[in-house]
Amino acid sequence: MGELTRNFDWSQTEIGSPDHWPEPLRVTLGIMLSSRFPMFLWWGENLIQFYNDGYRPSLGNEGKHPKALGQRGKECWPEIWEIIYPLIRQVQTTGEATWSEDQLVPIYRNGRIEEVYWTFSYSPVWGESGEVGGVLVVCTETTQAVLANKKLEQNAHNLANMILQAPVAMCILTGPSHVIEVANERIIELWGKPGSAVVGKPVFDALPEARGQGLEEVMDRVYGTGETFEAQEMPVSLLRNGIQEIVYQNFVYQPYRNDKGNVSGIIAITVDVTEHVLAKKELERFNSQLRIANENFRNIILHAPVAMGLFLGEDMVIDVINNNFLALWDRDASVVGKPVLEILPEMEGQPYFQIMKDVFHSGETHFANEAKVFLNRNGSLDEGYYNFINQAFKDSDGKIIGIVVVAHEVTEQVQARKRLEELNAEFALSGSRLRLAIDATGLGTWDYEPQTEVLYLSPEFRLILGIGREEPVTLAAFMNNVYSEDKELILQQLTLPRSELLDKFDLKYRVCRFDNNDLRWVNVRGIVLFDEGGKPARLTGTILDITEARQAEERSAKLAAIVTFSDDAIISKTLDSVVTSWNRAAERIFGYTEEEMIGQSILKIIPTDRTDEEPRIIERLGRGEPVDHFETKRLRKDGKVLDVSLTISPLRDNEGNIIGASKIARDISEQKRNEQRKNDFIGMVSHELKTPLTSLNAVLQFAASKLKNFEDPFLRTAMSRANLQVKKMTTLINGFLNVSRLESGKMYLDKRWFDLDSLVREIVEETSLVSASNPILFEHCEKTPVYADYDKISSVVSNLIGNAVKYSGNDKPINVYCRIDGRMATVSVADNGPGIKPEDLKRIFERYYRIETDLSHQVGGFGIGLYLSSEIVKGHRGKIWAKSKPGKGSTFYFTLPLRQIE
Ligand code: ADP
Repeated sequence: MGELTRNFDWSQTEIGSPDHWPEPLRVTLGIMLSSRFPMFLWWGENLIQFYNDGYRPSLGNEGKHPKALGQRGKECWPEIWEIIYPLIRQVQTTGEATWSEDQLVPIYRNGRIEEVYWTFSYSPVWGESGEVGGVLVVCTETTQAVLANKKLEQNAHNLANMILQAPVAMCILTGPSHVIEVANERIIELWGKPGSAVVGKPVFDALPEARGQGLEEVMDRVYGTGETFEAQEMPVSLLRNGIQEIVYQNFVYQPYRNDKGNVSGIIAITVDVTEHVLAKKELERFNSQLRIANENFRNIILHAPVAMGLFLGEDMVIDVINNNFLALWDRDASVVGKPVLEILPEMEGQPYFQIMKDVFHSGETHFANEAKVFLNRNGSLDEGYYNFINQAFKDSDGKIIGIVVVAHEVTEQVQARKRLEELNAEFALSGSRLRLAIDATGLGTWDYEPQTEVLYLSPEFRLILGIGREEPVTLAAFMNNVYSEDKELILQQLTLPRSELLDKFDLKYRVCRFDNNDLRWVNVRGIVLFDEGGKPARLTGTILDITEARQAEERSAKLAAIVTFSDDAIISKTLDSVVTSWNRAAERIFGYTEEEMIGQSILKIIPTDRTDEEPRIIERLGRGEPVDHFETKRLRKDGKVLDVSLTISPLRDNEGNIIGASKIARDISEQKRNEQRKNDFIGMVSHELKTPLTSLNAVLQFAASKLKNFEDPFLRTAMSRANLQVKKMTTLINGFLNVSRLESGKMYLDKRWFDLDSLVREIVEETSLVSASNPILFEHCEKTPVYADYDKISSVVSNLIGNAVKYSGNDKPINVYCRIDGRMATVSVADNGPGIKPEDLKRIFERYYRIETDLSHQVGGFGIGLYLSSEIVKGHRGKIWAKSKPGKGSTFYFTLPLRQIE
């Protein structure tokens, strides 16, 4: 480079030819060019470049050499100018040297940009006048060393990574004290301590429990000698997660060398084989147990209380067989070691050898129940039944090597059962016949075995008591449903002392239905079968629902009691009037006993003048119509005539045909007599009252005429009031008198001709005067000549109008008319009062009948007005009736024949 520098035409550069160079430049260049240490110099404003031979290789081939000599720095290093120029500036401005080690400064050389590492120092070269004239670079390229180092680091890193990710437990221990440098999760898990607590510590400090087990010596040896150490299934005691444990490990301790080939640590690889070791140990134990078990198994076979044998291989060679089996086969111990078919040739054609083979191949246990097997026994082919099990027999590897057969002969049981089944089938057949017969009668059947407590109930039985078809019922459950009062009855039967136990019983008691708790009467009959000890072994019998019959019985008993103890005579008779029943009251009322009357004609008690009543009654009954409260007279045995009230209703048979009549007769003679007495009394009182009232009336009339011209208004009104009251009283008393006369048949009609229309008008006018509160509209007609009792018809009209006023309330208009309808004159009185309910309407013409309302309480009355009116109208061969609806007012009508001549 010295030569190149000398020959370079420096005059072309801004620093000029060498003879003009300042002293410091020349000195520095002298040192530089003679040094073999790589050096580079920038000089002057534009950093003109110099370098020595030491530096030359760093510029590579086909690179900056030799152009870089004398070139401006900026032009030479465009690719790194940004990196180095600040350093140059720093040196220029501060005058202090820089130091960079292994710094990456990529440069263009060998035809490309290369990654080059340098350790370099930029230092100032002072100019003549004390300024920084240039920057000297002393450098050494460290690319190779850096890359080698990097590789080394990468290796270490890779190793650590490999260890961390290794599928086995691994760690790196460094230095003579075996410091845990890297430990992967597996080894940390194995150690049972958190990684943070062990990494960075000498291994025997981190795991003090691992001391004293020879591991220190092994590790020291590997570290000291560089020899690999290996160990298999080594037991190590470790304190893991607070528990001292023995673990088994396979180890490899490998020396770990640094770049110089010196051992710097150990790579430990540990595989935890604890499970494997334990399993192996378990297997060993198992194998030894198996040996014992095998021995035991043979013993079990030999001493089993049932036939048992072990057959090996495809041919079922008899390996072990016990005496029970030999006895069953009727063979001896010489069979051992021989194939089954050789011993039991009769098996050919029977399925059992094939079954054994199937089990041998499939490993599936085969169970046979009561299998029929033919065996050559005692010199003949014997039929027998066996329960047996064929089970695969495996060796310790689980391979099937044979089968174990356990057999049990059940020939006798099967035969016994078959006989029983035949019997049962026979029994079932006859039983079902019997059941059919029983079902037809509606009887249920039952069967009870005290020993087993099995209670059988037939479907019909279940139907009767509402028990589900499948519902299990115990005797206790059944007893629970028996009506408490009747329980005793059954318990008595069940707990009778032995000597008194009957072999038949017939009980009637009540049971609650299981489904709806309805009480049913049942008739339970049964027979008891005794065992040899005389104890009941079986009870069986029938059940019949007798509820209806029982209820009918009860009903008729009640009815009979009512009939017997009734105060009224209750008699029944046929349509031919023959008496069929006669109760006590009939005996008392009519004096004939039951014997005297049953089978006799009823005409015996009908007075001769009333014999026509009977055919009329029978005729009515024939039409199905009852006769209600028909008052008539009947004859007693002693000839006395009785007043009776009869209620007669038809008697029907089951098909509804009328076959007779039942008659309730009440003796009303006494009632009649009382009424008569009362009527007589009323008649007498009315009669007695009438005389003073007549004279009172006369006095009043007289007084009134005397006072005619008298001006005193008090006296005048007093007189008219007195008159009115006397009139009212007279009507009342006349009413009573008429009733009593009517009752005793002494009412006489004093008939004469008069005009009904005029009579009605007079009464309307009269009433309008007295009670002005109700306007009365009268619609009159042509002449209505009637031949009647003027006074009595007056009282009828007065009564109807009076009632209309009384019951309709103030201001309500009343309409009265008189009309001619054919041969009759009709009078009607219509009001707008409260109206009358239909049931009352039927009865208002009855004697003393009053409707019980607040209104009828307010207005006085005895309920005789309408009664008398109707009797009077009927006495004139007229008709009287009323139409009314509640709330719609009432209209009363009566008719009288026109121009009647009596
Ligand atoms: P009384 O003396 O009670 O009025 P009646 O024989 O005249 O006796 O009447 C019998 C019953 O008929 C009365 O108590 C009354 O309840 C009912 N009655 C009669 N006429 C009428 C009517 N116009 N409106 C409503 N109810 C009436």
